[in-house]
Amino acid sequence: MTRIAIVTGASRGIGRACAVALAGQGFEVWATYHSNDEAARSLAAEIEGAGGACKLLKFDVADREATEAALAGLEETPAEVLVNNAGITRDGLFVAMSPEDWTTVIDTNLGAFFNVTKPVIKGMSRARRGRIITIASVSGQQGNAGQANYAASKAGLIAATKSLAREYGKRKILCNVVAPGFIATDMVKDLPEKELTQHIPLRRFGTPEEVAGVVAFLASDAATYINGAVISVNGGLYT
Ligand code: NDP
Repeated sequence: MTRIAIVTGASRGIGRACAVALAGQGFEVWATYHSNDEAARSLAAEIEGAGGACKLLKFDVADREATEAALAGLEETPAEVLVNNAGITRDGLFVAMSPEDWTTVIDTNLGAFFNVTKPVIKGMSRARRGRIITIASVSGQQGNAGQANYAASKAGLIAATKSLAREYGKRKILCNVVAPGFIATDMVKDLPEKELTQHIPLRRFGTPEEVAGVVAFLASDAATYINGAVISVNGGLYT
């Protein structure tokens, strides 16, 4: 039987590592992305080269209609795992933050949770099983100067996940958050790494694979009693 795992924002960074890890666990990965065709194709080639299955879906997670259309195939075979990973930053001090930067980040990071999870959870609900793993951030746990929009979106994801954990537990759909600290991806490539690592007890940024390992665990049969949790993967930056 086909076991589908959807990973949003799978073309690069953390999402890509999650897609590879879940494919390694035997899932057919539905890898979504926004615009980077080359990165998406290289992910599919990597998974297929290792004997796995990968389907690429290109759409904007902030666009509700496009998201529903892309995920329509799930009516036949429900997904077993959803990793809500796609996300963006538009950093800036609040006084200088434009309405567009506020709205785009909220719509992309938090709006996507609604747009993607809604069609996916329907099938999971019928199947009475599923794992929804959402990537938040340390910013959503502690707040961060210059990231009011991003931190708000990530705190919203934590609250939405805890709510669904309570709503869908009886249907055996387990909903959890993974909250990374600084992870070496394109998203943080312009940040002052040397300065920032001084505040991290492990004195380094994490790797996408170190986040993907936790996601793969939460998707596995080893994690049948974890629901509504927020698991930090931040090298001790915030506890
Ligand atoms: P990257 O910038 O490396 O990758 C972002 C991914 O999201 C890409 O696959 C991109 O697609 C996709 N994406 C972006 N916008 C959209 C959109 N509107 N619709 C569909 N897909 C989209 O990010 P990271 O891997 O660093 O981050 C992944 C997640 O982890 C994010 O939610 C981020 O907030 C979170 N996170 C990251 C941290 C870090 O330090 N890196 C720390 C804490 C949390 P494409 O390639 O087509 O552009």
